[in-house]
Amino acid sequence: MSNITAIDKEYVANTYNRFPIEISHGKGSEVFDTDGKRYIDMGTGIGVTAFGISDDEWKNAVVEQLSKVQHMSNLYYTEPCARLAKLICEKTGMSKVFFGNSGAEANECAIKVARKYAADKKGSDYYTIITLENSFHGRTLTTLAATGQEHYHELFQPLTPGFVHTPANDFEALKKTAKQHKTAAIMIECIQGEGGVIPLDADFVKKTAEYANENDIILIVDEVQTGNGRTGELYAYMNYGIKPDVVSTAKGLGGGLPIGAVLLSAKVQNVLGFGDHGSTFGGNPVSSAGAVSILERIDDKLLEEVKAKSKYIFDSLIGAEGVESVSGMGLMIGIKTKKPAGGVVKACMEKGVLCLTAKDKVRLLPSLNIPQNILEEAINIIKSVCAE
Ligand SMILES: *Cc1c(COP(=O)(O)O)cnc(C)c1O
Repeated sequence: MSNITAIDKEYVANTYNRFPIEISHGKGSEVFDTDGKRYIDMGTGIGVTAFGISDDEWKNAVVEQLSKVQHMSNLYYTEPCARLAKLICEKTGMSKVFFGNSGAEANECAIKVARKYAADKKGSDYYTIITLENSFHGRTLTTLAATGQEHYHELFQPLTPGFVHTPANDFEALKKTAKQHKTAAIMIECIQGEGGVIPLDADFVKKTAEYANENDIILIVDEVQTGNGRTGELYAYMNYGIKPDVVSTAKGLGGGLPIGAVLLSAKVQNVLGFGDHGSTFGGNPVSSAGAVSILERIDDKLLEEVKAKSKYIFDSLIGAEGVESVSGMGLMIGIKTKKPAGGVVKACMEKGVLCLTAKDKVRLLPSLNIPQNILEEAINIIKSVCAE
């Protein structure tokens, strides 16, 4: 065991079962360990380093801002935060943005917005939030309550009350649940990421959005993983032709620095007033400057490239030996392999490709601009491991 591994094992809390490699540095889609071994990065820190490791534009934006001011609190105006909010609203048609630091925090804010809207409009007993079975919304006690997977709940009772779960893609069940409760919001991931890279049915999403709109129930779309170009559209809901009231996002938005954002439609833009919510680091100038450099580059041309690379991955893997099925959208891909996913990921790592798992799938979240030749190299290695 090397020194770094030994120190980590002794002093870092035991919540992560790390792979036995120590990452040293990287560039773009290539990363090196402390022994100098090269890996192709098909996980991007779980969909975070949207344009790859230490990409120049993001790095320049961050370094430039670092040399001006790294933090000032939300008592004052700073340029990157304002610019980022404007950019997000212009690109989505949403009206206002609240900034936090993570996906869970973004969802916490989204839930607060929905509960306050419903309380103001219908009464404080309208607090129920409906989420889907097999969903994932975060690790705080409230977002765990939102997460529709029992095994996350067991050890941490009592969780925040007021959450109920219904099966994905069953609109009648959802409607029944919404009628049984005084419902404030319905919260969905368009593609269940941690749940196994499972896109929701278009019909279910459309009907759910219509039902929410007709009944003045807030529709929250959790775009923490699916957002910021990942699925071939700027946000995954855009693939479904719906207009959410609230969108939460994080992961890829910061390009590697912590940031979370809640996008508020015109209907809910003024639900939160002075003092109703806040965050010390939210809208931090350095994170925001990095995020501006990410969002500015997610244009139609890049999204077309994401779709083309997605098609290449699907075409290469569907029907390949040892591959049962391929799911997902854009560069958010789940592979059901004949062999257990964990073993495939380990073998790929040994052959120089870093992949993720999601439930029983091998999950790929490469950088949005991964060069085609590096992508092909990675896919060929994954195929050879699946076929072994
Ligand atoms: C990762 C994730 C979260 C939690 O984000 P954190 O930044 O880890 O708090 C929430 N929702 C979805 C869909 C995610 O994929």
